[in-house]
Amino acid sequence: MRDFSYARAGSVAEARKAAADPAVMLLAGGTTLLDLAKCGVAEPERIVDISHLRNLDAVTFDDAGVVIGALAKMSRVADDSGIKAEFPAVSEALWQAASAQLRNMATIGGNLMQRTRCAYFRDPATFDACNKRVPGSGCAAIGGVTRGHAVLGTSQACIATYPGDLATALVAFDALIHLGGRDVAADAFFLLPGDTPHREHPLDPGEIITAISIPASPAARHSTYLKVRDRQSYEFAAASAAVGLDLEADGKTIRDIRVALGGVASKPWRAEGVEAALKGKALEPDAVKRASLLAMDGAVDHGANRYKIDLAPRVVARAILQLGSLA
Ligand code: FAD
Ligand code: SF4
Repeated sequence: MRDFSYARAGSVAEARKAAADPAVMLLAGGTTLLDLAKCGVAEPERIVDISHLRNLDAVTFDDAGVVIGALAKMSRVADDSGIKAEFPAVSEALWQAASAQLRNMATIGGNLMQRTRCAYFRDPATFDACNKRVPGSGCAAIGGVTRGHAVLGTSQACIATYPGDLATALVAFDALIHLGGRDVAADAFFLLPGDTPHREHPLDPGEIITAISIPASPAARHSTYLKVRDRQSYEFAAASAAVGLDLEADGKTIRDIRVALGGVASKPWRAEGVEAALKGKALEPDAVKRASLLAMDGAVDHGANRYKIDLAPRVVARAILQLGSLA
């Protein structure tokens, strides 16, 4: 691991100034950054610690929804009674992420900024070709072992999966990412790889995440996060779904539905086709299963990740039917 200097930011303004310097990396909980530094993917000259900054860890509710400070710990947000009541999918996504120890250290802002778990990306000592690490160097994963790679939103330059759970729920419920001077929709905060996979977020130099906000809605209040993975804890999603459901007074007709997928795409993936197919329709198992297949529109596999194309629609359908008490 390369030597780096360490300093603490005294204020948000100092953190922003530090973030404008390409030699600096910000440290929040450190659970991703130090990992990446140890495996040689991140090589900061200077680390600026923001973990102690005041007023960036609050969780505040009003009629419009909730604002969550970027430095709030994952475990604290997961366990918040208001989050559990108003945004259960957000709480469940956080509970099912990482491990108890990591959730106690890791922050909401750091969670959104986590990098892909692509094994070729995380092993620069063995693999030179990675367009995300070294633009223009190629992609060792294409033609390699692809079991964990994405089937949606990929490009010829990169097929890496975005691994986070929280962001999937944020995209489903139209959250905003606050960057101090401006806000960005959660969906737009995660960029498609295209031919620039090294560029993952639309952050300008000097911008940091200060908070996220999630609008209140009946669908967010009646929501869930279903995560399917190789083992039941301490594992990233093979496929996951954040789903919210709002039914008409008849208890059957779908007034509003939100669906986003995790573990299968290059970014948290809103399944608008599924939503459009079900809005205004009766909540009925066959219709839900048929509509869930639309989640895979445009999917492209690379051999070993083909199973995701079969798995993801089942995860979506099960989540919707569970919410509707039909499964
Ligand atoms: P840090 O490591 O401090 O920072 C991460 C990155 O974000 C750095 O580049 C840093 O500069 C940047 N950053 C931090 N805060 C800000 C900010 N406010 N503004 C701008 N940039 C910022 N996650 C899941 O979602 N699901 C899982 O199942 C899961 N499993 C895991 C298993 C393991 C073994 C590990 C190590 C991690 C796992 N994670 C999982 C990822 C984990 O949730 C992240 O490591 C954690 O959320 C990062 O938060 P942090 O505060 O520690 O970030
Ligand atoms: Fe790098 Fe993306 Fe290819 Fe993985 S899939 S090796 S992150 S370019």
